[in-house]
Amino acid sequence: MAALRIAPILNCDDNGPMPVSPWQRRIRRAQELASEHSFAAEILGFYIHIARFQEDLHKRLSIALQSAPASVDRGLTEPELSELSAKLQSFLSLAETRGPKALAQLSRELHARGLDFCRELLDRGWTARSTSDAEGLLAQAFLQPYAELLRSRAALRPVPTAHALCPFCNRKPVLTVLRPMGDGGARSLICSFCLAEWEFRRIVCPGCGEEDDKKLAVFTASDFDYIRVECCDACKTYVKTIDLTKNGRAEPLVDELASSPLDLWAREHGYAKLQNNLLGM
Ligand SMILES: [Zn+2]
Ligand SMILES: [Zn+2]
Repeated sequence: MAALRIAPILNCDDNGPMPVSPWQRRIRRAQELASEHSFAAEILGFYIHIARFQEDLHKRLSIALQSAPASVDRGLTEPELSELSAKLQSFLSLAETRGPKALAQLSRELHARGLDFCRELLDRGWTARSTSDAEGLLAQAFLQPYAELLRSRAALRPVPTAHALCPFCNRKPVLTVLRPMGDGGARSLICSFCLAEWEFRRIVCPGCGEEDDKKLAVFTASDFDYIRVECCDACKTYVKTIDLTKNGRAEPLVDELASSPLDLWAREHGYAKLQNNLLGM
């Protein structure tokens, strides 16, 4: 599909390979997964546009908002609101032209409500601790690179490992990863908003703290044998875990998006996702 035709990534110069940005890595992985899983091609095609927009926004904001306070536990300041609301309009145009049908329609409606409404939407998206509606998730997808930028400027404060909310912005994790450590894997959670990653014990539900392994079921499917659907029978929530010990090529955010059949399966079995991803799944 047209959305997947992305220019090749230039990564060499006279001094050897240039560092590839996280967004470029995610874009590459999205291209790879879209060619492997046709059911995910549309959503990944749209994600590629979002990732390119986010990278550009991150660059612009790092220059335009250099003196912003390095925290997200606060309202947006006037300079932030004016800078961000102008860019949100371009983001809504992008979602209008490139997004899946329902999201395109919603973006058109939001765009038509003008700049004042955009400011209000940003204000809400910035302060909401948990978001599940399409409007809020769209605002969060837009704000995410800014939250990430502010986090990179702040020193992350240490937290007890039992804490299932992000140590920087207090949001819920969008997924879990297992990274190779010794003979096994160390588990960490990744924030749905600022993408902070923090360690978390393996046999604990991040939704309710349940530790009884009889209530913590793990499912996998052959299509995505490196992704675990970790369900809790105490609070009936689930998170997906990207097992990097089994697949080192995975880009957690992208592989999580691509594996939507696992979400359908979990929902059909009565589990609710702890936190929807940016595309509402
Ligand atoms: Zn966070
Ligand atoms: Zn639970």
